Amino acid sequence: EKYLVPFGGSAIPQEKPDRQIVGGKGLGLTEMSRIGVDVPPGFTLTTQVCQLFQATGDLPDEMWVQIKEAVGRIETDMNKKFGCYDFPLLFSCRSGAAISMPGMMDTVLDIGLNSNTVKGMAKATNNKRFAYDAFRRLLDMFGDVVLGIPHEAFEQRLEKLKNETGKKDDTDFTAEDLERLCDEYKKVFGEHNQVFPEDPYDQLKACIKAVFGSWNSERAIKYREINQITGLFGTACNIQSMVYGNLGPTSGTGVAFSRDPGTGKAELKGEYLINAQGEDVVAGIRTPEPISRMEHDLPEAYKQFVQNIERLERHFKDMQDVEFTVEDGRLWMLQCRSGKRTGQAAFHIAVDMVEEGICTPQEALLRIEPDHVRQILHPTFSKEALSSATYKDNVVAVGLSGGPGAAVGKIVFSPQTAEARKDEGVLLVRNNTSPEDVGGMWAANGILTSRGGVTSHAAVVARGWGKPCVCGCEALEIDEEALTMTVKKTGETFKEGDTISINGSTGEVIRIAIETSEPSFEGAFSTVLKWADDVADKCKVMANADSGPDATKAAELGAKGIGLCRTEHMFFAPERLPVVRRWILRGEGLDQVQGFQRQDFNEIFTAMNDKPVTIRLLDPPLHEFLPRVQQVDATMATDLGYGGNVNGLINDIESMHEENPMLGLRGCRLAIVRPEVTTMQAEAIINAAADVMEKDPANAKPFPRIMVPLVGSVAEFNCQALAIKKAAEKIKATRKINVSYEIGTMIEVPRAALISDQIAAVVDPDDGKQLCDFFSFGTNDLTQMTMGISRDDAGAFLHSYEEKGILEDDPFKSIDEEGVGWLVRRSSVEGRKTNDHLSLSVCGEHGGDPKSIAFFDRVGLDYVSCSPFRVPVARLATGQAAI
Ligand code: PEP
Ligand code: MG
Repeated sequence: EKYLVPFGGSAIPQEKPDRQIVGGKGLGLTEMSRIGVDVPPGFTLTTQVCQLFQATGDLPDEMWVQIKEAVGRIETDMNKKFGCYDFPLLFSCRSGAAISMPGMMDTVLDIGLNSNTVKGMAKATNNKRFAYDAFRRLLDMFGDVVLGIPHEAFEQRLEKLKNETGKKDDTDFTAEDLERLCDEYKKVFGEHNQVFPEDPYDQLKACIKAVFGSWNSERAIKYREINQITGLFGTACNIQSMVYGNLGPTSGTGVAFSRDPGTGKAELKGEYLINAQGEDVVAGIRTPEPISRMEHDLPEAYKQFVQNIERLERHFKDMQDVEFTVEDGRLWMLQCRSGKRTGQAAFHIAVDMVEEGICTPQEALLRIEPDHVRQILHPTFSKEALSSATYKDNVVAVGLSGGPGAAVGKIVFSPQTAEARKDEGVLLVRNNTSPEDVGGMWAANGILTSRGGVTSHAAVVARGWGKPCVCGCEALEIDEEALTMTVKKTGETFKEGDTISINGSTGEVIRIAIETSEPSFEGAFSTVLKWADDVADKCKVMANADSGPDATKAAELGAKGIGLCRTEHMFFAPERLPVVRRWILRGEGLDQVQGFQRQDFNEIFTAMNDKPVTIRLLDPPLHEFLPRVQQVDATMATDLGYGGNVNGLINDIESMHEENPMLGLRGCRLAIVRPEVTTMQAEAIINAAADVMEKDPANAKPFPRIMVPLVGSVAEFNCQALAIKKAAEKIKATRKINVSYEIGTMIEVPRAALISDQIAAVVDPDDGKQLCDFFSFGTNDLTQMTMGISRDDAGAFLHSYEEKGILEDDPFKSIDEEGVGWLVRRSSVEGRKTNDHLSLSVCGEHGGDPKSIAFFDRVGLDYVSCSPFRVPVARLATGQAAI
């Protein structure tokens, strides 16, 4: 059994290890080491060890033989010895799962220092201050991460020492101060009934256990839950020799992105600190310098750094997020991974990288996440609002741009309140955030912190989610106890519940609510989605849209047509409803209803022009359109044709009540009982198409597809299809115009899926032609009826099912592949057996869900259809599914 993978120094390069086994960090380190980028030598304990640890609560004995051997190699490489007074070798120990979880898992540095080796360290480096600084860091981290002693307990001693010695910064401490601090820190262990292990291997062992243990910490579980991270083996554990950025003015440390993670601009973006250790940068303790300063301070190392970055980008074919340390002028890369980025940056980077020849459009496409697409669809402050005096005059403070975008909301000061008041739209305001806060950060529209840089926890997490974030806004005094936020300069104070705005792109904090504006879909966004369309030659994306404006939006977002127009939505307009009600109850005014429909279809055909428009005939139970009996009064009874007879109207309404309406008189059943429905709608559709053709004969090419809902038997489809054809042909003949149209059916009753071969085979006895041109899977109803779970009531109990692991996913969001999906697959195959021109598609909610889309692509559907705002995500998903 191999428990570890070595990297760096004289380690034999490991060919592409499995990310699941060595985790993202481990993979980065082994890959860097393989392509000749200097990394401090170390080794990765695999996720299999994590699994063993989770199962047994202990580490396998044989692993220590391998660890000792690896340590031996590193000792030779570094010319130092672990646990030895002379030139002690120290290690860091970090977690790293296959998917990066920033801030979720724990890190311990300087492992190997103890009361003896710290002296050796002081001697070897001729720098006692440095040695004791490292030791106090180890004591603090070990205490906090491994033994659960609160970090604040150590911070208090530090503050106390500052007060006693009159020092402002911890950099002002002398060696003797730090030595004293180490003694103080050891007392903290005692106060918490703990002992600091002096033996370096004991330290290492405890750290490894802490890393593996942290995989199932509450905050890690919560992070995985929010980000829907499943299917991982556990975390790997990376043990790496320490190098130092705090050895003096020729040392430093930093973090950087190879491109701007906020905008995608092709320039290094990052921060570094001279004479400091990594956590100083991340924790926001000292305010770091921009990375560009390094060119001036450490020119040689900077040159090497730029080369490394380019090499890494070309190797991984992606934007990189790196950590590095310069020890006495020598550059070491500590970590690399694909950088988290905003949606805007993701699209920009994809286009640039293809142009720079770093990757192909297909490779670039795979780096775009559904969330990146969703972010572009989110609002920003409108250009007008940004240039107005109202905006400028109300800026109360400016911090750093932690995550771009606009957010407006009520101030809350704790993550708990953010979660509780989520529905009101809140902004989470904190001094800084920590991994425990992720629930509240997720709930908030945006995040505002007064401390920490653009790589602080708040900023990293916010950017990952595409949430606007202003960080390090030091002009604000945030009192999390008193629930106030005060502008230091003016004393202006905001309380919990006050509404403010933040501009995550500029760092501005605005004292009022600023109007936001809809985003633009031009440029890189449209280029990348066109790549997706090109790759996805088989499975297209259409939209569910019921009105002219919706259709226009859908076309703008790239829909190739309308896959579902729910005609009933047109009936709910306030001026139409009384007319519709009168027709339902009294059978009067059908012409008027037809007029509404004709007008709407006209608008939709105009918006979509030559693209197909799939129109579903009336589907819901009719009583959905009727008033409640409590609403009935004499005026209504007059308007609806009852001559003021309130009771008559009430009786009619009550007589239409159904116990189980979703399985009642709806869909094609309605049209069979009241045949005028089908004729009226089919006529309206063909007439509207003829209208637009007559209006613009040269250009208009409307293409209606008429769809029968809720079919469960051959006879149902047969009778409806013939009725549609008859009505359509009549209009064509009277108006002497050749409108092309198709007839098809929803497959949403399980029985229809089971007899699909027969439905697809139905022919018109008059001309012998097949009547069914298409199937569209109505997976909402198909799921409801197959699983026997009410789509309207499932919300109340499905989350319990998910929590208890009885259902993995909400089947109304992601298709149940085994059951409902099996029906879709079988129906597709059987339908095509008897009808080779049959078009297949889905128009239920699943048509906008990336996971379901991958399934539908495998089944071989011709298109998916979803609401307009999900069209771009679906385009991405169909493209990715095809790669
Ligand atoms: C469906 O059932 O999947 C469907 C698209 O129709 P509706 O949601 O209108 O019932
Ligand atoms: Mg349905």
